[in-house]
Amino acid sequence: MLLHDETPSAVETREQSFVLGTYNRTPFHPRSGKGAKLVDAAGKVYWDLLGGIAVNVLGHKHPRLVKTLRAEAGQLLHVSNLYYHPAQGMLAEELVRASGMSRAFFCNSGTEANEAALKFARLANPGRSGVVALEESFHGRTAGSLSMTGHEAYRTPFLPLVPDVTFVAPNDVAALEAAVNDNTCAIFLEPIMGEGGIIPLSDDFLAAARKVADRTGATLVFDEIQCGLGRTGTLFAFQQSGIIPDIITLAKPLGGGLPLGAVLTNAQFDALVKPGHHGTTFGGNPIACRLGLAVLHEITKSNLLEKVTATGAWFERQLKKLQSQNPAIVDVRGKGLIWGIELDRPAGPVAKELLAKGFVVGTARDRVLRLLPPYITPKKAFTEFITALEQVLASATETQPVQSETPTVAAHRAA
Ligand SMILES: *Cc1c(COP(=O)(O)O)cnc(C)c1O
Repeated sequence: MLLHDETPSAVETREQSFVLGTYNRTPFHPRSGKGAKLVDAAGKVYWDLLGGIAVNVLGHKHPRLVKTLRAEAGQLLHVSNLYYHPAQGMLAEELVRASGMSRAFFCNSGTEANEAALKFARLANPGRSGVVALEESFHGRTAGSLSMTGHEAYRTPFLPLVPDVTFVAPNDVAALEAAVNDNTCAIFLEPIMGEGGIIPLSDDFLAAARKVADRTGATLVFDEIQCGLGRTGTLFAFQQSGIIPDIITLAKPLGGGLPLGAVLTNAQFDALVKPGHHGTTFGGNPIACRLGLAVLHEITKSNLLEKVTATGAWFERQLKKLQSQNPAIVDVRGKGLIWGIELDRPAGPVAKELLAKGFVVGTARDRVLRLLPPYITPKKAFTEFITALEQVLASATETQPVQSETPTVAAHRAA
């Protein structure tokens, strides 16, 4: 029997017996899809407004990706990093030319990209161990990246982690300036914080980070794993502010759905990083790099950056309008096609009801709905989403407001 034909309950039962319980999975079984739509095992159709958490920027079964995959399937599936294949250099060239950085290193995931960035920052700052990162940041789950992730629940069971990491509140310039010192080797920032609840860092804060990094020699790393590669309407999120980091980390959408991460480094690292300093068996896989090239080409050829910008500006107006009419919406944050809708109630049950209505959305923190839709998503999907959200917030089910002592994410906003 094909696995594809397994019933949802059989799939769930087998997982419960054999897959380690790291995920609290939603009982949703997407089995096929096209464009911005997903179809579940029962044949029900959904608008995919989460895009596999910012991965599927071209939606599902995109013809360019399918064609690339078919062509590459007849070639070598793996080439060791001991040797050469053409696609790695080609993708590096495009990323370097588009970002203004100098070199690329390829790995398989976001957390690996940040691990590599941390090691490169150590090479650039011998004898200095400090890292400054943000409260409620997210940089990944491996030990080094977790050390820089400012979310207590993820960190506590695994202490002690990599030492000398200081966390400061997002957009608090004075705290950042006070935390960075002559022992700081790196400052890690997400230009728009994703898991933290879609918190855009202000231009002032980013500029202050650049300035304090220049003053102390610390390496400024922008983690654009979630907000990069077109999501804000420019290929890189840093291009929105004009503040140029020393290192950029990328992953989620880079491989068109296959695992691929990258670290882009400025010229300072060209001579610094030497053979033996870092490496990976699978990083820069030929198929993943070909898909990466296809993603970049499709973004260019179909003017997707303009589409993201225009759709984002229009959607922002719709969301703000809904917020002005609906006290259940506390705040709306984002740009392009990365949006956080902060509610006065837990977001989980709201997301669950939206799913039942045919909308796949994510959550962040306790009360933020998170949207990371494919760049090809039609306006219709967003219009229908707004209507559905309005209905869910009005319905008197478990999605009711809560009083809480915890400050809202809105408190972190740029002043
Ligand atoms: C998802 C994410 C990561 C971790 O990426 P993985 O591929 O899951 O390891 C790191 N940083 C940010 C900003 C992310 O959104």
